[in-house]
Amino acid sequence: MPRTENICALCGSSWGNVWRTVGGRRLFFCCKVCEREYLATLKEIKKRTGWKKLEAVRFEGGRRGRRCVAKSGEKSYTLMASYDRAGRIQFASEAESDL
Ligand SMILES: [Zn+2]
Repeated sequence: MPRTENICALCGSSWGNVWRTVGGRRLFFCCKVCEREYLATLKEIKKRTGWKKLEAVRFEGGRRGRRCVAKSGEKSYTLMASYDRAGRIQFASEAESDL
């Protein structure tokens, strides 16, 4: 099997085999937990901002604490979140978006 270019949308790992269409885009995740964390984070940001659609989403950090920067038009929102083992958000708060 040839090596694929797949990079997990959440953690950047290149192994795994979970595909999910999110907002019309086909995204690759290394595992179900990453998929769940990704979806939970987007949902949380949409809930907090009231935005219907997120145009760009960037993740940094690890499972103990991720920083997610989402953009919609001119606006951007940064959420700090930590997760449990199942990929559910345990704690989330808005962060400064100057980084
Ligand atoms: Zn991953």
